[in-house]
Amino acid sequence: MQYKIGNGYDVHAFAREIKPDACITLAGVHIPSERELIAHSDGDVLIHALCDALLGALALGDIGKHFPDTDPQYKGISSVLLLEKVSELIMQKGWSLANADITVLAQEPKLAPFREAMCEHLAKVLQVNVDQVSVKATTTEGLGYVGRKEGIAVYVVVLIEKPFD
Ligand code: MG
Repeated sequence: MQYKIGNGYDVHAFAREIKPDACITLAGVHIPSERELIAHSDGDVLIHALCDALLGALALGDIGKHFPDTDPQYKGISSVLLLEKVSELIMQKGWSLANADITVLAQEPKLAPFREAMCEHLAKVLQVNVDQVSVKATTTEGLGYVGRKEGIAVYVVVLIEKPFD
């Protein structure tokens, strides 16, 4: 096997307005939240970082290059569709995901109850086993922009593999 590694990072800011029925979307899973994330798409900051990691592994640019936020066809789009397209691109080139390790930095909302659902959904979209996808969540102990509840940040590392030709 030959291997390549990719790293992705993304941040989305929370809207100021508190809404009683607000939710955010992470890994395609809807999670209740006091405030929504500001975004051109559905604001799935986890999937955006994951797409960047996959694209980065093959030096294919970034999510902004493939799906520009100036293009109206991507306004409000489900990020799951973007991940499906990126995943197809990787597979077309003969590569498959060995594993993805994802760390979400959020002071709120509490993500632990949704961790398994996020892993299962990502594994389904990426067509891999659930033990190849790890989602971890941490606060920043009140420090920095995440700690001030201004937004959510996500770090992703992926390893992709391909048999030697
Ligand atoms: Mg983004």
